[in-house]
Amino acid sequence: MNQQQDITDILHHMGEHDLPFNAVSPPIFQTSIFCFKSFDAFKEALEDEANHFIYTRGNNPTVNLVEEKIAALEHAERAKLVASGAAAISASVTAFVKKGDHVLAVQDCYSWAKSLLVNYLSRFGVESSFVDGCDPAEFEAAIRPNTKVIYLESPTTFTFKLQNLKAVAAIAKKHGIKTIIDNTWCTPIYQNPIDLGIDIVLHSATKYLGGNSDAVAGVIAGKEADIRHIFETEFMTMGAVPDPFMAWLILRGMRTLHIRLPVHFESAKKITAFLAAHPLVESVLYPFTPDYPQRELAETQMRGGSGLFSFRLKTRDVNKVRTFVDTLTLFKRAVSWGGYESLISPSAVGNFPDGIIPDDKVSLIRLHIGLESVESLVEDLTRALDAIR
Ligand code: PLP
Repeated sequence: MNQQQDITDILHHMGEHDLPFNAVSPPIFQTSIFCFKSFDAFKEALEDEANHFIYTRGNNPTVNLVEEKIAALEHAERAKLVASGAAAISASVTAFVKKGDHVLAVQDCYSWAKSLLVNYLSRFGVESSFVDGCDPAEFEAAIRPNTKVIYLESPTTFTFKLQNLKAVAAIAKKHGIKTIIDNTWCTPIYQNPIDLGIDIVLHSATKYLGGNSDAVAGVIAGKEADIRHIFETEFMTMGAVPDPFMAWLILRGMRTLHIRLPVHFESAKKITAFLAAHPLVESVLYPFTPDYPQRELAETQMRGGSGLFSFRLKTRDVNKVRTFVDTLTLFKRAVSWGGYESLISPSAVGNFPDGIIPDDKVSLIRLHIGLESVESLVEDLTRALDAIR
């Protein structure tokens, strides 16, 4: 794969030459099976299922087209599209551990990644432990003789803590440990962890890759041998299959990825600056705000950022938080992120033991800045902040 390949060449042309009937948009191969001309051809395909069209649970041309583009974007040898981001996480981590092994992960990783480690893999004798992750020395200190995987998410997507990817990758390599990162926030437009020594990159394609809040998908990218191992173990066994139509939706969304990301980034910078200067805002968690503690690292390993960040209101009164959230008209109250639309997700709506919201969660609010005009979004936020003065 040519790593310097122009991004639009990847997004718009790669794998799309000579389409049937000179079609511009690639067809959706909505088929569950592929047939063979002969006994021998059938036998040959089954000997190497990872590289043949046999059954759509394994490979499908529409699915593979997305994989080819994502591998190129992530500077990976190969990629595998799966049914969701959660499937990407579970397939990639599970493929590299067995009973008695240990996974070291970042404390604030995506909640279902943590659940995989704490509630699921523990049932099969896989241990896990967590570090804050801001200092690479924490990883070195927490590595155990049985550590097989280091699981990263940089930045973490509620608290926006970064890991030094180059340093952590070097530590892991020294100990023969596989590194896996969730790169959903930055996307390959702004961060290429494989260039920094990380082994496996995964995404919730539901977010920016799809970009339209209409498809759920995940993707795993890395070395040929690693992706093949994941294919032959977890992927084919657990069956988190990407549907061809879903793959086509992701393909359609990806055509505008390089246009959308800079808009999310520029708008987020403006809105974080507005919030940081507002008297009712306590703090803003976004790696590219001027005074962010890890800004230097952010600028070293990322070329830009996306539209998702958190902030804290200067209150611990959940009623004020409720009023703020309910006054907004443009920000939709919803989970997830990465689409064209702006969203708000207050921490306080989560489920907490005994119904008691921890103090640090009451006023922690996550915003996704979509593609709307910044002026309209600032107006909306101003009205909501005025409502809690
Ligand atoms: N990774 C991150 C950072 C996420 O926020 C999410 C979902 O919100 C996922 C992974 C899981 O992705 P999916 O919802 O596509 O399973």
